[in-house]
Amino acid sequence: MSDAPFRVLPAITDRNQPFWNAGRDGVLRFQRCQDCRYWIHPHSVLCPNCHSKRIAYEDTSGRATVHTFSINVQEWMPGPEPPYVVAIVELPEQEGLRLTTNIVNCPPDDVRIGMPVQVVFERHDDGDESVYLPLFEPADLGT
Ligand SMILES: [Zn+2]
Repeated sequence: MSDAPFRVLPAITDRNQPFWNAGRDGVLRFQRCQDCRYWIHPHSVLCPNCHSKRIAYEDTSGRATVHTFSINVQEWMPGPEPPYVVAIVELPEQEGLRLTTNIVNCPPDDVRIGMPVQVVFERHDDGDESVYLPLFEPADLGT
């Protein structure tokens, strides 16, 4: 059993399974075009840059900066205890490569736009399958 807060978990498909399971290795993975090297998110069967279908998952650095965020103070749906921070973070791998996530291990009032963050995974067990949600914490914690 996991003591992580209840969350609505993503539907796992063959196509996105490498993304949701990458946290097992502690690595944030995104799809990347094998022809033009463009990073792709959200998941796609076609490279939006060159229309290639040769797409594979590759490791990212797991680092990002806060692009924008909001503090959720109301409980809209089952999830973490409010207040919590919903953020869009941008990865240094490519301009515009962004992920919607939560900022954790940080008081909501301390979150700033442009703040360096790093990925931390929250494991959820869903039947036989484990899902690893990529969340982000301040990059200068504990290292
Ligand atoms: Zn491409």
